[in-house]
Amino acid sequence: MNISDSERVSAVLESLNYKKTSNINDADLIAVVMCSVRQSAVDRVQGLMQKFEKIRQKNPKLKTVLTGCILKRDKKIFINSFDCVIDIKEIKNLPSLLNIKNKIRGKNIYLDIKPKYFSKFSASIPIMTGCNNFCSYCIVPYAREREVSRPAKKIISEIKNLIKNDYKEIWLLGQNVNSYKNKNITFPKLLKMANMIPGNFWIRFTSSHPKDFNSEVISAMATGKKITPYLNLPIQSGDDKILKLMNRHYTVKDYKNKIRELREKIPGICLSTDIIVGFPGETKKQFENTIKLFKNIKYDLAYINKYSTRHGTAAAKLADNVTIEEKKRREKILTAILKQTALENNKKYIGRRVGVLIDSEKNGRLFGKTKEYKTIETKSNKNLVGKFVKLKIIDAGPWKLKGNLL
Ligand code: SAH
Ligand code: SF4
Repeated sequence: MNISDSERVSAVLESLNYKKTSNINDADLIAVVMCSVRQSAVDRVQGLMQKFEKIRQKNPKLKTVLTGCILKRDKKIFINSFDCVIDIKEIKNLPSLLNIKNKIRGKNIYLDIKPKYFSKFSASIPIMTGCNNFCSYCIVPYAREREVSRPAKKIISEIKNLIKNDYKEIWLLGQNVNSYKNKNITFPKLLKMANMIPGNFWIRFTSSHPKDFNSEVISAMATGKKITPYLNLPIQSGDDKILKLMNRHYTVKDYKNKIRELREKIPGICLSTDIIVGFPGETKKQFENTIKLFKNIKYDLAYINKYSTRHGTAAAKLADNVTIEEKKRREKILTAILKQTALENNKKYIGRRVGVLIDSEKNGRLFGKTKEYKTIETKSNKNLVGKFVKLKIIDAGPWKLKGNLL
């Protein structure tokens, strides 16, 4: 979402005749699109201040802008260090805040600003902003406010334009895409509409909240040929008591039932999840339930996060009593299990022919993703970035498959 926000910030800056520089020291304006989900990200912005001051010493004209996902209380702190702190939803007002006359016309809704897409073949399209869920640890509902779903017509026309320009991969974005609703159009309906757009491209989406992820979405995924067989379904913890304290509104059993249905209807689907280790009061026994779940589901990927207190959330009232060493230990244990299950899953690809979207090139090696979101590497001197290719898989590690071009 931050990258997508940055694409809109870039569009606004370009309309003011700013040009991108490859060296931050040459910049006349630096915009930071921050994330407040974890304290470490907020601290990183603090760390940037000194760097900006050095640049300002050489270039007194330098302007600095802070936007993205900012908490009200952090705004008060950062306002002293940046020339301008602005809510992403207000980004069209940037010119007047910088005392620049050129106004951005119309575009009262920030998502209607035509983004300057950073990639020429893969684009992210926010379908909704905000969140209504108030998971007890999470700052997003405070920073991004309540859910607003974009009209389906705008989303579909944005996708059509991208496909006309030869884009190969479309990511539909939202904090909880399953609760997308605009007029009578729900998320499964939107997926079907996107799938019907003619062209050779893949559709991906993130994030899904397990409580709203239902059979209708599964059948839209199973029947939509362009919808990729990959799903990030964040469970956060494998223990029912912790899930209750997290205010997640599902049990481990509910979650496992959804995974079973997914695997029945979409054989070969790849799965990833998000986990928080060291939630306040998480005992070693409760953590063992997350270990059990990891061994049981056999994920292909996982985003493992160490709990950090977010001021103002319900969980902030609980003591953050799992030590940082213990959080690191738990993270390491889950990473080790993931390494095993991912390797086991990846070995099944050896000998198979797979379709791949090449996304980067380095020293005669190409990298990309399969439809199932598996990372691949292959050798080639051809510039195939942004193209679909076919590979025969010859080797598999936990985080990567290797193959030969067919
Ligand atoms: N909407 C998504 C998650 C968005 S935040 C969902 O419901 O799954 C991305 C991830 O950051 C979360 O899945 C969670 O694992 C992590 N996260 C959020 N708040 C956190 C906190 N206070 N400490 C550590 N990790 C956190
Ligand atoms: Fe945060 Fe996701 Fe929960 Fe919303 S659904 S509060 S974004 S973790």
